[in-house]
Amino acid sequence: MVLCSIGLISGLAYHELSRTTQENATIRLDRAAHAAASILRYGTNERLLPEFAGTGAPALIRVSEATADELLQPGEKLKALVETIGKTNQGAANLFRWSASTKTFKEFATTLPGPEGQSPPAVTIDEGHPAFASLSTGQPYSGNVPVQGRFRLAYLTPIVTEGGKVAGALAVDVGWVDDLSLAENRLKTRITSAAIIILIAVLLIGGLLLHFELRPLRRLAKAADDLAAGLQPKRIPFTDRRDEIGDLAHGLEKVTDLQDKLHKLAYTDPVTTAGNRSRYFFDLSQALKRARTGSFSASLIHLDFNGFAKVNDTFGQQVGNRVLLQAYARLANIFGPSAQIARISADDFCILLPFDGKGAIAEDYAVQAIDMLSVPFQMEEGEIHVEPSIGIALLPRDAEDAETAHRMAGLALRAAKRNAGPRYEFFSPPLNDRVQSEMLTETLLRAALQTRQLVLHYQPQVCPADGRLIGLEALLRWPHEKRGNIPPAEFIPIAEKTGLILDLGRYVLDSACKQAAQWRQAGFEFGQVSVNVSPLQFRQSSFAETVRQTLKTYGLPASCLCLEVTENVFVDTREQMVLDILSELQQIGVQLSLDDFGSGYSSLNYLHRLPFQELKIDRAFISGADSHPQREQLFEAIVRLGRSLGLRVIAEGAETAGELALTVTHQCDGIQGYICSPAVPAEHLQSQLQNFRTDLKSESLAGSSNRSSKRLA
Ligand code: C2E
Ligand code: MG
Ligand code: MG
Repeated sequence: MVLCSIGLISGLAYHELSRTTQENATIRLDRAAHAAASILRYGTNERLLPEFAGTGAPALIRVSEATADELLQPGEKLKALVETIGKTNQGAANLFRWSASTKTFKEFATTLPGPEGQSPPAVTIDEGHPAFASLSTGQPYSGNVPVQGRFRLAYLTPIVTEGGKVAGALAVDVGWVDDLSLAENRLKTRITSAAIIILIAVLLIGGLLLHFELRPLRRLAKAADDLAAGLQPKRIPFTDRRDEIGDLAHGLEKVTDLQDKLHKLAYTDPVTTAGNRSRYFFDLSQALKRARTGSFSASLIHLDFNGFAKVNDTFGQQVGNRVLLQAYARLANIFGPSAQIARISADDFCILLPFDGKGAIAEDYAVQAIDMLSVPFQMEEGEIHVEPSIGIALLPRDAEDAETAHRMAGLALRAAKRNAGPRYEFFSPPLNDRVQSEMLTETLLRAALQTRQLVLHYQPQVCPADGRLIGLEALLRWPHEKRGNIPPAEFIPIAEKTGLILDLGRYVLDSACKQAAQWRQAGFEFGQVSVNVSPLQFRQSSFAETVRQTLKTYGLPASCLCLEVTENVFVDTREQMVLDILSELQQIGVQLSLDDFGSGYSSLNYLHRLPFQELKIDRAFISGADSHPQREQLFEAIVRLGRSLGLRVIAEGAETAGELALTVTHQCDGIQGYICSPAVPAEHLQSQLQNFRTDLKSESLAGSSNRSSKRLA
């Protein structure tokens, strides 16, 4: 804008100067012509009489017919007059006489010297001369005329007789044209130079001013860029200014504050105020980035509480949240400000603990954390106990990327939960191998389920006294073409960990009910078919409905189905909830069996309150009980306990004739063990049972009350 204005003003000045110079020259020329005509008038006693136009310049000079010839002759008088005219004009003056014969105006008096000061050759104005056309028609001419190879700015006034004939001309000029325009050109050059200098100066000064004036804007723009890129600028500059820049800075400061708040919200766990999952993975990635440069090492501690769901179930989520908040406070206290603590899901805390080089090691912290968190939480609702476990990965030793690091700490945590000893575990390559193998199994299992490679075998439950079939337990079998038969003990825990057990369980329930319905149709009296139900399945809200639907699909009476659950259903689930689910199943009319009784978490006080019809005594109690009196007493006590509660008692895992005899002696309702039959495909069942009954009648088993320990399996 400024540059354009300067250019425009310079252009106008240039144009105005040209016009003024032109006007000046014209005025000067007109005046010179006026003066020359006047001098001629008075010098010739008005015999040459000028007539003036409106501008003051002479239009023509009148002369009488009679005196024209006489007057327009060279002579001293006219020569003196011409010289006077020349001096007055500061230019040159000439008088011309018209020659009718040659049709030219011929100069006969002049003040103009030749180029070297000598008398110049007489000038003629003939056709081709710029003034000729005007003069020959009695009109004045004003303009440039060629003289001695250059141009002079001249005014030529025709001398006309009273009869209207052209008799001659008076010419005055104000100098050489190039001399006249010299000053003008010089001025123009100066104007142009000045304009250019001003332009450059404006450019330089403007540029410098802009540079300095825009500096705050550039810094604010940089701050805005940082904000947009998600980087939090340390401080917004220029907030103390009281101008537009200050306003802008204030605006940006508000945006920064807002972003800061949003950032905190987005990265904070609302329950505990610890970091959340996003914060954790961000911090972990940053830590690993630093670790890769070799300047940093840290421990990644993954902590969770076994059975925390039970706290929520028992006391409600609000109380659960308050426990988590207090747990976080304890953790913050233990690990100090240098640790980054995040809660990444329900009861999972992840702690990134930088190695401080002072020898404080993750193990010390882990022990301390387990001790501190094992101290019960005092709540209004009562004392709450939680059981922490910790998995530790060392960075960068164990992992180079966040996902792997998290997985490694998680693996260590899982291992810690299985530990009989301390409830913390470091990640190690063998641990990794185990987990890798578990992962492979999981993949294979998923495929096997999809391609229906998993099959059900059935293990008979018989009355030990008479060998009558009272039930069949459906047991999953996974024949794998390369790995052989993969035992349930290997794949069921993995299916439980991954949730695959839900699909697997549905498949087993469906297949077993289908098979049972077929047997019924075929008239095979099998008593009941027992299906194992894992705790995860059991807790599903839709489980009872699934059972109802499956029975309906195959038209199987509910009493033909027995669902076996282990005491593990009480881990992580409130007793009342277990009772509710069992009652719902009982209403359907299915049989309920407590499997592996005595093998794990046992609480005798719930037994009488739960609607089980059957108790399956864990194999550990019968194994060897025929040869160890104390074991036998224990076995007998458990059988009695079951019977006293009105439950059908099944002894699992009887392998020898001696163990079989024990079950007869202590009046077990049923046995399920290799002594009778292992789990076999449905089509082999009949022959298997036949063999057992034959054996039972034979000497060896009938006389087994002598407690021989003939192993059959
Ligand atoms: P479980 O429900 O207690 O099943 C009884 C287990 O004891 C079976 O092992 C059976 O083969 C074994 N067994 C029976 N008699 C004897 C014996 O005389 N001696 C010995 N040593 N073992 C005997 P299996 O089939 O390997 O199953 C192991 C566990 O896997 C089952 O224990 C059950 O907890 C689980 N499982 C098997 N199939 C399924 C299923 O379909 N669903 C669920 N959730 N779990 C299943
Ligand atoms: Mg079972
Ligand atoms: Mg069992």
